[in-house]
Amino acid sequence: MLLHPWNIAFLAGFIIRGIIREAFEGRVKGNEKIVSRIDAREKMVTVIVFIGNLLPTIYPFTPWLSFADYTLPAFVPWCGAALMAFALWLFWRSHADLGANWSYTLEMRKGHELVRHGVYRSIRHPMYTSIWLFGLAQGMLLENWLAGWSAFATFAVIYLLRAPREEAMMCEYFGEEYREYMRQTGRLFPRMRAGSEG
Ligand code: SAH
Repeated sequence: MLLHPWNIAFLAGFIIRGIIREAFEGRVKGNEKIVSRIDAREKMVTVIVFIGNLLPTIYPFTPWLSFADYTLPAFVPWCGAALMAFALWLFWRSHADLGANWSYTLEMRKGHELVRHGVYRSIRHPMYTSIWLFGLAQGMLLENWLAGWSAFATFAVIYLLRAPREEAMMCEYFGEEYREYMRQTGRLFPRMRAGSEG
């Protein structure tokens, strides 16, 4: 039976993530953009996200991918569900803390402020942390090499394509203020101690 409880739990988390995204997208829709780095690479990100999301959403409804199934110890999906709940909380908090400064792609908005409070106090990319953790939880809930790990694998590509360019754009726009922020924070996790690279 493909529609077993952990697959349904994954789908619930996936839908909640979509609702959070949709809600915040509506709030920033009218904001004027003054810098936009949407090029071929950024467009490729959209295609990669689509592929990463397609496999896990069709998996619970068809036997097509069952050749790549695996079995995990019973406690693992429970840990996956807890991790997914945390990832969703972090996804929501990072959108809420960025507020009007959030955008789906590499853009700066009119009156853009550098956010350094809330979940941005000690991490520069909490939204990306939440996406990594969601991808990890996916592999613990969907016991299938393709559907379980597609988001993790595709986000690895996106992260490598995007994070350095995003930081370069922020440095260009905010200058020393962002460089100082980089010295005080970790990329995906808080720094263990001041001065170490995050
Ligand atoms: N990388 C961040 C944000 C992802 S959304 C994270 O993972 O949490 C991407 C957009 O957010 C970027 O195009 C940039 O315009 C904006 N942004 C990223 N960090 C920001 C910050 N600290 N303050 C304000 N805007 C930020």
